[in-house]
Amino acid sequence: MKKLLYPLLAAVALTLLVSCTGSSDVPADLSIVPNPVSMLVGGRGAKASATVRTQVDATLAPEEYVLTIRKGKISITGGSEAGIFWGMQTLAQIQAQCGKKLPGVVIQDKPAFSYRGAHLDCCRHFFTVDEVKQYLDIMALHKLNVFHWHLTEDQGWRAEIKQYPKLTEVGSVRAETLVGHYGSDQYDGTPYGGFYTQDDMREIVRYAADRHITVIPEIEMPGHASAALASYPELGCRGANYPYKVQTTWGIFPEVLCAGNPETITFLENVLDEICDIFPSEYIHIGGDEAPREEWEKCPKCQALMKKMGFKREAELQSYINNVIEQYLAGKDRKIIGWDEILDGGVSQSATVMSWRGAKGGIAAAKMGNDVVMTPNSHFYFDYYQTKGREANGEPLAIGGYLPLSKCYEYDPFDQLGDAEKAHIKGIQANLWTEYIATFDHVQHMILPRIAALAEIAWNPEGRTEYDAFVGRIEKGLLPIYDVRGYKYADYAFKGIE
Ligand SMILES: [Zn+2]
Repeated sequence: MKKLLYPLLAAVALTLLVSCTGSSDVPADLSIVPNPVSMLVGGRGAKASATVRTQVDATLAPEEYVLTIRKGKISITGGSEAGIFWGMQTLAQIQAQCGKKLPGVVIQDKPAFSYRGAHLDCCRHFFTVDEVKQYLDIMALHKLNVFHWHLTEDQGWRAEIKQYPKLTEVGSVRAETLVGHYGSDQYDGTPYGGFYTQDDMREIVRYAADRHITVIPEIEMPGHASAALASYPELGCRGANYPYKVQTTWGIFPEVLCAGNPETITFLENVLDEICDIFPSEYIHIGGDEAPREEWEKCPKCQALMKKMGFKREAELQSYINNVIEQYLAGKDRKIIGWDEILDGGVSQSATVMSWRGAKGGIAAAKMGNDVVMTPNSHFYFDYYQTKGREANGEPLAIGGYLPLSKCYEYDPFDQLGDAEKAHIKGIQANLWTEYIATFDHVQHMILPRIAALAEIAWNPEGRTEYDAFVGRIEKGLLPIYDVRGYKYADYAFKGIE
């Protein structure tokens, strides 16, 4: 296999011409997303119905693949089963464009980043196991390999924890939900809830693994904890008698876990025991974002801990929690990843930082020698509007912002970084917060096709084409698949609406 392939790659000129029908008098016009590192077209192709022969070649990078369609045969060689799987996705794009007769082609590709993520907030709105599976299918089609599953929030705790049944009995249901945009002060009067059983979560982990996707669960601490506190109020600075509630509107709430209460640490460790049992991922996401410290300033337990530890700032209490939890998880061979606020009170060298407030947190972390996943809201917050005209263009209500496909495609993950720091950028990720996204059709509208831009940067940031050519490749390479699968993608970019 290899003997045949590499001389071919080296020897055949890139000017060979071919068409989808396999004749050699029409220029090749194969559209693939992401744009492969190397693509050769020419010679006799194969029927789409030909058996696909696969093999692993450990001399390739783990996720690298070589897809060969020649002389009636189709073969995919991967550095691992994952590489073969990504090659299959490319084959699907060729089949979608070319139908029954496939052109002669040799495509070799490998991802630039080992972490290519998509996040889904299942707390502000709940999505069923089947819908989460569809999300994973969309990720697989775009060759993304990390699903960041946001499971706990102010507005709902979604993960069954057997030692703490009230988390789902109480914490998974809010009394009602805000109607319209933040500040509307109108509520729908209808209880809203849902959660995943441990069997559900295991099923998702398996389904993802079948698609070479790792699931990273996120358990938020110490903020975004209203649902946990409504279930177990003794874990809050205001104590067991305070009427904490599962929040019914959006935003940042002052109620956080009490850092000075040893029971808080016990709670988190027990929760993480069960989470680690379900999720085999190396990383566990500990949140860490948007945790106000005003309650810690007034809480006798938190202040006593500060005095005992010699802390000068409340931010150090958050670092304290991070460090205790990091050490606990290290005992289970796990690592922590958290939002860029975990840098505030000082962060250990071994923590990985997810930069969301633009890229600056990630740049700072990389300069300090920490590993980074870039998820800047400037380019990868897919809950933002996609056009300037917003609702006038038919866009559904969104949180705000303005992030057209063209802007996603501009993102440079290495901006402002030197060579030593670039090595710390482990990957990139899109985030989908769902305050204003109540249905899975709407989820699809927000991520498709913007997720294709993320995929292209994650696989081949150097090989990005002109934006118009990229849009053309989505139209030819991906839209036929979106259509067959019935995906409800946004079409602004294809109509030239920005
Ligand atoms: Zn406290």
